[in-house]
Amino acid sequence: MTKYPFPKIDLHLHLDGSFRVETMYELAQERGIALPGETLEGYRQFLFDRSNAESVNEYLEMFNAPTDVLQDAASLQRITAELIEDLAACGVRYAEIRFAPQLHTHKGLSQADAAAAVLAGREEGLKKNPGIHVNIITCMMCVGPETVNWDANMETVEVCRQFFSDDGIVALDLAGAEGIVPLTHFAPLFAKAKEYGLNMICHAGDSQDWVTVRDAMSFGVSRIGHGHHIYENPELVRKAAEKKIALEICPTSNIQCKTRASYPLHPAKNLLQMGLPVTINTDNMVMARVNLDDEYDHCLNEMGFVWNDLIDMNINSARAAFMKDDLRKEIIAELETFRR
Ligand SMILES: [Zn+2]
Repeated sequence: MTKYPFPKIDLHLHLDGSFRVETMYELAQERGIALPGETLEGYRQFLFDRSNAESVNEYLEMFNAPTDVLQDAASLQRITAELIEDLAACGVRYAEIRFAPQLHTHKGLSQADAAAAVLAGREEGLKKNPGIHVNIITCMMCVGPETVNWDANMETVEVCRQFFSDDGIVALDLAGAEGIVPLTHFAPLFAKAKEYGLNMICHAGDSQDWVTVRDAMSFGVSRIGHGHHIYENPELVRKAAEKKIALEICPTSNIQCKTRASYPLHPAKNLLQMGLPVTINTDNMVMARVNLDDEYDHCLNEMGFVWNDLIDMNINSARAAFMKDDLRKEIIAELETFRR
Protein backbone atom coordinates (compact mmCIF):
# COMPACT_ATOMS: atom_id res chain seq x y z
CA MET A 1 0.00 0.00 0.00
CA THR A 2 1.32 3.38 -0.96
CA LYS A 3 1.62 6.07 1.71
CA TYR A 4 -0.69 8.22 -0.43
CA PRO A 5 -3.72 5.92 -0.63
CA PHE A 6 -6.13 8.45 -2.17
CA PRO A 7 -6.98 8.31 -5.89
CA LYS A 8 -3.97 9.90 -7.57
CA ILE A 9 -4.07 11.70 -10.89
CA ASP A 10 -1.22 12.40 -13.30
CA LEU A 11 -2.17 14.82 -16.07
CA HIS A 12 1.29 15.54 -17.47
CA LEU A 13 3.22 12.48 -18.44
CA HIS A 14 5.20 11.91 -21.64
CA LEU A 15 5.13 8.41 -23.12
CA ASP A 16 8.66 8.64 -24.52
CA GLY A 17 10.05 9.68 -21.12
CA SER A 18 8.28 7.08 -19.05
CA PHE A 19 9.33 3.71 -20.50
CA ARG A 20 10.97 0.80 -18.68
CA VAL A 21 14.70 1.06 -19.30
CA GLU A 22 14.93 -2.74 -19.77
CA THR A 23 12.21 -2.62 -22.40
CA MET A 24 13.86 0.23 -24.29
CA TYR A 25 17.13 -1.71 -24.23
CA GLU A 26 15.46 -4.87 -25.47
CA LEU A 27 13.57 -3.05 -28.24
CA ALA A 28 16.80 -1.32 -29.33
CA GLN A 29 18.69 -4.63 -29.44
CA GLU A 30 15.94 -6.29 -31.47
CA ARG A 31 16.06 -3.42 -33.95
CA GLY A 32 19.84 -3.19 -34.12
CA ILE A 33 19.89 0.33 -32.69
CA ALA A 34 22.78 1.41 -30.47
CA LEU A 35 21.77 3.21 -27.28
CA PRO A 36 24.05 5.66 -25.46
CA GLY A 37 26.08 3.82 -22.85
CA GLU A 38 25.99 0.61 -24.93
CA THR A 39 25.01 -1.83 -22.15
CA LEU A 40 21.76 -1.82 -20.17
CA GLU A 41 23.58 -0.49 -17.11
CA GLY A 42 25.45 2.03 -19.24
CA TYR A 43 22.21 3.30 -20.70
CA ARG A 44 20.67 3.55 -17.25
CA GLN A 45 23.69 5.60 -16.13
CA PHE A 46 23.43 7.84 -19.21
CA LEU A 47 19.80 8.63 -18.39
CA PHE A 48 20.73 9.36 -14.81
CA ASP A 49 23.63 11.64 -15.77
CA ARG A 50 21.69 13.53 -18.39
CA SER A 51 18.57 13.96 -16.27
CA ASN A 52 20.40 16.72 -14.43
CA ALA A 53 20.67 18.78 -17.58
CA GLU A 54 21.91 22.31 -17.97
CA SER A 55 18.72 23.37 -19.75
CA VAL A 56 15.38 22.14 -21.04
CA ASN A 57 16.82 21.85 -24.51
CA GLU A 58 19.72 19.71 -23.30
CA TYR A 59 17.27 17.60 -21.28
CA LEU A 60 15.30 17.02 -24.47
CA GLU A 61 18.36 15.38 -26.07
CA MET A 62 17.71 12.37 -23.84
CA PHE A 63 14.70 11.64 -25.99
CA ASN A 64 16.73 11.06 -29.17
CA ALA A 65 17.42 7.38 -28.52
CA PRO A 66 13.85 6.43 -27.54
CA THR A 67 12.65 8.23 -30.65
CA ASP A 68 15.01 6.17 -32.83
CA VAL A 69 13.62 2.99 -31.31
CA LEU A 70 9.91 3.81 -31.22
CA GLN A 71 9.25 3.75 -34.95
CA ASP A 72 6.88 0.80 -35.26
CA ALA A 73 3.42 -0.05 -33.98
CA ALA A 74 4.54 -3.00 -31.83
CA SER A 75 7.02 -0.93 -29.78
CA LEU A 76 4.56 1.93 -29.27
CA GLN A 77 1.83 -0.47 -28.21
CA ARG A 78 4.13 -2.27 -25.79
CA ILE A 79 5.49 0.77 -23.98
CA THR A 80 2.00 2.26 -23.67
CA ALA A 81 0.60 -0.94 -22.16
CA GLU A 82 3.58 -1.24 -19.79
CA LEU A 83 3.31 2.37 -18.69
CA ILE A 84 -0.33 1.84 -17.77
CA GLU A 85 0.67 -1.22 -15.76
CA ASP A 86 3.39 0.79 -13.97
CA LEU A 87 0.98 3.64 -13.19
CA ALA A 88 -1.59 1.21 -11.84
CA ALA A 89 1.11 -0.36 -9.64
CA CYS A 90 1.81 3.11 -8.17
CA GLY A 91 -1.86 3.52 -7.27
CA VAL A 92 -2.60 6.08 -9.97
CA ARG A 93 -6.36 6.15 -10.61
CA TYR A 94 -6.38 8.35 -13.69
CA ALA A 95 -3.67 9.51 -16.07
CA GLU A 96 -3.38 11.35 -19.34
CA ILE A 97 -0.40 10.08 -21.31
CA ARG A 98 0.89 12.39 -24.02
CA PHE A 99 3.02 11.73 -27.07
CA ALA A 100 3.89 13.41 -30.37
CA PRO A 101 2.77 11.23 -33.31
CA GLN A 102 5.12 13.06 -35.71
CA LEU A 103 8.19 11.74 -33.84
CA HIS A 104 7.28 8.17 -34.78
CA THR A 105 6.96 8.50 -38.56
CA HIS A 106 10.64 8.05 -39.54
CA LYS A 107 10.26 4.46 -40.72
CA GLY A 108 6.94 4.34 -42.50
CA LEU A 109 4.26 4.86 -39.86
CA SER A 110 1.84 7.71 -40.48
CA GLN A 111 0.87 9.92 -37.57
CA ALA A 112 -2.51 8.21 -37.59
CA ASP A 113 -0.79 4.78 -37.46
CA ALA A 114 1.24 5.95 -34.46
CA ALA A 115 -1.91 7.18 -32.72
CA ALA A 116 -3.67 3.87 -33.45
CA ALA A 117 -0.72 1.94 -32.00
CA VAL A 118 -0.75 3.96 -28.79
CA LEU A 119 -4.51 3.50 -28.54
CA ALA A 120 -4.04 -0.26 -28.98
CA GLY A 121 -1.50 -0.17 -26.13
CA ARG A 122 -4.01 1.76 -24.06
CA GLU A 123 -6.65 -0.91 -24.69
CA GLU A 124 -4.22 -3.65 -23.75
CA GLY A 125 -3.06 -1.83 -20.62
CA LEU A 126 -6.59 -1.04 -19.45
CA LYS A 127 -7.75 -4.59 -19.99
CA LYS A 128 -4.96 -5.92 -17.78
CA ASN A 129 -5.35 -3.16 -15.17
CA PRO A 130 -9.06 -2.49 -14.73
CA GLY A 131 -8.55 -0.21 -11.71
CA ILE A 132 -7.03 2.64 -13.69
CA HIS A 133 -8.44 5.01 -16.31
CA VAL A 134 -6.15 6.48 -18.95
CA ASN A 135 -6.63 8.89 -21.81
CA ILE A 136 -4.18 10.04 -24.47
CA ILE A 137 -3.06 13.52 -25.53
CA THR A 138 -1.42 14.14 -28.90
CA CYS A 139 1.38 16.71 -28.90
CA MET A 140 2.44 19.05 -31.63
CA MET A 141 6.15 19.82 -31.40
CA CYS A 142 8.26 22.94 -31.32
CA VAL A 143 11.58 21.82 -32.81
CA GLY A 144 12.75 25.12 -34.29
CA PRO A 145 11.11 28.03 -36.05
CA GLU A 146 7.46 27.07 -36.56
CA THR A 147 7.96 26.73 -40.33
CA VAL A 148 10.28 23.71 -39.87
CA ASN A 149 7.47 21.27 -39.03
CA TRP A 150 4.36 23.28 -39.77
CA ASP A 151 2.79 20.58 -41.93
CA ALA A 152 3.56 17.86 -39.39
CA ASN A 153 1.95 19.93 -36.63
CA MET A 154 -1.09 20.62 -38.78
CA GLU A 155 -1.33 16.87 -39.40
CA THR A 156 -1.26 16.31 -35.62
CA VAL A 157 -4.26 18.64 -35.30
CA GLU A 158 -6.05 16.56 -37.93
CA VAL A 159 -5.10 13.25 -36.27
CA CYS A 160 -6.32 14.55 -32.92
CA ARG A 161 -9.59 15.50 -34.60
CA GLN A 162 -9.85 12.12 -36.33
CA PHE A 163 -9.52 10.16 -33.07
CA PHE A 164 -10.99 12.76 -30.70
CA SER A 165 -13.36 11.35 -28.07
CA ASP A 166 -13.88 11.42 -24.32
CA ASP A 167 -12.47 7.92 -24.09
CA GLY A 168 -9.20 7.69 -26.02
CA ILE A 169 -7.50 10.76 -27.50
CA VAL A 170 -8.88 13.66 -25.52
CA ALA A 171 -6.72 16.73 -26.22
CA LEU A 172 -4.06 18.47 -28.24
CA ASP A 173 -0.85 19.92 -26.76
CA LEU A 174 2.23 21.77 -27.97
CA ALA A 175 5.47 20.41 -26.50
CA GLY A 176 9.18 20.57 -27.22
CA ALA A 177 11.65 23.41 -27.00
CA GLU A 178 10.50 26.77 -25.72
CA GLY A 179 11.68 30.18 -26.79
CA ILE A 180 13.11 29.51 -30.25
CA VAL A 181 10.47 31.76 -31.79
CA PRO A 182 7.66 33.67 -30.08
CA LEU A 183 4.91 31.27 -29.03
CA THR A 184 2.35 33.36 -30.92
CA HIS A 185 3.81 31.98 -34.17
CA PHE A 186 1.91 28.78 -33.38
CA ALA A 187 -1.44 30.55 -32.99
CA PRO A 188 -2.96 29.36 -36.31
CA LEU A 189 -2.53 25.72 -35.24
CA PHE A 190 -4.50 26.36 -32.07
CA ALA A 191 -7.07 28.37 -34.03
CA LYS A 192 -7.66 25.31 -36.21
CA ALA A 193 -7.93 23.06 -33.13
CA LYS A 194 -10.39 25.50 -31.58
CA GLU A 195 -12.45 25.49 -34.76
CA TYR A 196 -12.60 21.68 -34.45
CA GLY A 197 -13.68 21.93 -30.82
CA LEU A 198 -10.64 20.06 -29.47
CA ASN A 199 -9.48 20.34 -25.88
CA MET A 200 -6.20 22.26 -25.85
CA ILE A 201 -3.10 22.45 -23.67
CA CYS A 202 0.19 24.23 -24.28
CA HIS A 203 3.63 23.89 -22.71
CA ALA A 204 4.64 27.40 -21.63
CA GLY A 205 6.29 29.40 -18.88
CA ASP A 206 8.85 26.75 -18.01
CA SER A 207 12.19 27.83 -19.44
CA GLN A 208 10.54 31.02 -20.73
CA ASP A 209 8.86 33.79 -18.75
CA TRP A 210 5.22 34.68 -18.09
CA VAL A 211 4.78 36.20 -21.56
CA THR A 212 4.56 32.69 -22.99
CA VAL A 213 1.86 31.78 -20.47
CA ARG A 214 -0.10 34.85 -21.53
CA ASP A 215 0.33 33.83 -25.18
CA ALA A 216 -0.78 30.26 -24.45
CA MET A 217 -3.84 31.59 -22.66
CA SER A 218 -4.66 33.69 -25.71
CA PHE A 219 -4.97 30.46 -27.74
CA GLY A 220 -7.89 29.39 -25.53
CA VAL A 221 -6.17 26.50 -23.74
CA SER A 222 -7.70 25.24 -20.50
CA ARG A 223 -4.40 23.98 -19.07
CA ILE A 224 -0.78 25.03 -19.21
CA GLY A 225 2.08 22.52 -19.19
CA HIS A 226 4.35 23.79 -16.37
CA GLY A 227 3.48 27.50 -16.54
CA HIS A 228 5.10 28.31 -13.18
CA HIS A 229 6.75 31.49 -14.49
CA ILE A 230 3.29 33.04 -14.42
CA TYR A 231 4.26 33.68 -10.79
CA GLU A 232 6.33 36.68 -11.86
CA ASN A 233 3.18 38.44 -13.07
CA PRO A 234 0.58 38.56 -10.26
CA GLU A 235 -1.98 40.25 -12.52
CA LEU A 236 -1.77 37.35 -14.96
CA VAL A 237 -2.08 34.91 -12.05
CA ARG A 238 -5.33 36.64 -11.09
CA LYS A 239 -6.62 36.39 -14.64
CA ALA A 240 -5.68 32.72 -14.94
CA ALA A 241 -7.28 31.98 -11.56
CA GLU A 242 -10.47 33.69 -12.70
CA LYS A 243 -10.54 31.55 -15.84
CA LYS A 244 -9.60 28.44 -13.85
CA ILE A 245 -6.61 27.72 -16.07
CA ALA A 246 -4.93 24.71 -14.50
CA LEU A 247 -1.16 24.58 -14.13
CA GLU A 248 0.44 21.19 -14.68
CA ILE A 249 3.37 21.48 -12.29
CA CYS A 250 6.09 18.81 -12.52
CA PRO A 251 8.41 19.66 -9.62
CA THR A 252 11.33 17.33 -10.25
CA SER A 253 11.41 18.06 -13.96
CA ASN A 254 11.50 21.79 -13.22
CA ILE A 255 14.46 21.34 -10.86
CA GLN A 256 16.30 19.02 -13.26
CA CYS A 257 15.81 21.41 -16.17
CA LYS A 258 16.96 24.28 -13.95
CA THR A 259 13.80 26.26 -14.59
CA ARG A 260 13.52 26.55 -10.80
CA ALA A 261 16.52 26.60 -8.50
CA SER A 262 15.25 24.16 -5.88
CA TYR A 263 12.13 22.56 -4.45
CA PRO A 264 11.87 25.12 -1.61
CA LEU A 265 12.16 27.98 -4.10
CA HIS A 266 9.45 26.58 -6.38
CA PRO A 267 6.41 28.90 -6.30
CA ALA A 268 3.79 26.15 -6.65
CA LYS A 269 2.42 26.52 -3.12
CA ASN A 270 2.15 30.30 -3.53
CA LEU A 271 0.34 29.85 -6.81
CA LEU A 272 -2.13 27.48 -5.15
CA GLN A 273 -2.70 30.03 -2.41
CA MET A 274 -3.26 32.71 -5.04
CA GLY A 275 -6.21 30.68 -6.29
CA LEU A 276 -4.73 28.92 -9.29
CA PRO A 277 -5.77 25.32 -9.91
CA VAL A 278 -2.29 23.87 -9.37
CA THR A 279 -1.80 20.17 -10.12
CA ILE A 280 1.21 17.93 -9.43
CA ASN A 281 2.53 15.61 -12.13
CA THR A 282 5.63 13.63 -13.08
CA ASP A 283 6.40 14.75 -16.67
CA ASN A 284 8.85 11.89 -17.37
CA MET A 285 8.84 9.02 -14.92
CA VAL A 286 12.02 7.36 -16.18
CA MET A 287 14.02 10.41 -17.19
CA ALA A 288 13.18 12.15 -13.93
CA ARG A 289 13.27 8.89 -11.94
CA VAL A 290 10.11 9.80 -10.08
CA ASN A 291 6.60 8.60 -9.53
CA LEU A 292 3.76 10.62 -8.03
CA ASP A 293 4.58 9.44 -4.49
CA ASP A 294 8.10 10.89 -4.84
CA GLU A 295 6.65 14.19 -6.06
CA TYR A 296 4.21 14.28 -3.13
CA ASP A 297 7.16 13.68 -0.77
CA HIS A 298 8.87 16.74 -2.24
CA CYS A 299 5.61 18.68 -1.90
CA LEU A 300 5.24 17.89 1.79
CA ASN A 301 8.91 17.94 2.82
CA GLU A 302 10.38 20.73 0.73
CA MET A 303 7.74 22.79 -1.04
CA GLY A 304 5.56 23.95 1.82
CA PHE A 305 2.46 21.92 1.01
CA VAL A 306 0.39 20.14 3.64
CA TRP A 307 -1.62 16.92 3.31
CA ASN A 308 -4.90 18.62 2.42
CA ASP A 309 -3.14 20.52 -0.37
CA LEU A 310 -2.46 17.14 -1.98
CA ILE A 311 -6.17 16.38 -1.79
CA ASP A 312 -7.05 19.83 -3.16
CA MET A 313 -4.54 19.50 -5.99
CA ASN A 314 -5.87 16.08 -6.98
CA ILE A 315 -9.37 17.57 -6.98
CA ASN A 316 -7.96 20.33 -9.22
CA SER A 317 -6.61 17.58 -11.48
CA ALA A 318 -9.97 15.82 -11.58
CA ARG A 319 -11.71 19.05 -12.49
CA ALA A 320 -9.17 19.93 -15.19
CA ALA A 321 -8.93 16.38 -16.56
CA PHE A 322 -10.51 15.45 -19.85
CA MET A 323 -12.33 12.56 -18.24
CA LYS A 324 -15.97 11.52 -18.25
CA ASP A 325 -18.11 13.40 -15.76
CA ASP A 326 -19.30 10.33 -13.86
CA LEU A 327 -15.69 9.30 -13.22
CA ARG A 328 -14.83 12.88 -12.21
CA LYS A 329 -17.63 12.91 -9.64
CA GLU A 330 -16.65 9.51 -8.29
CA ILE A 331 -12.97 10.46 -7.89
CA ILE A 332 -13.70 13.85 -6.30
CA ALA A 333 -16.12 12.27 -3.81
CA GLU A 334 -13.51 9.69 -2.89
CA LEU A 335 -10.75 12.32 -2.55
CA GLU A 336 -12.91 14.30 -0.12
CA THR A 337 -12.90 11.35 2.29
CA PHE A 338 -9.10 11.57 2.60
CA ARG A 339 -8.98 15.05 4.15
CA ARG A 340 -7.29 15.22 7.51
ZN1 LIG B 1 5.97 18.11 -20.67
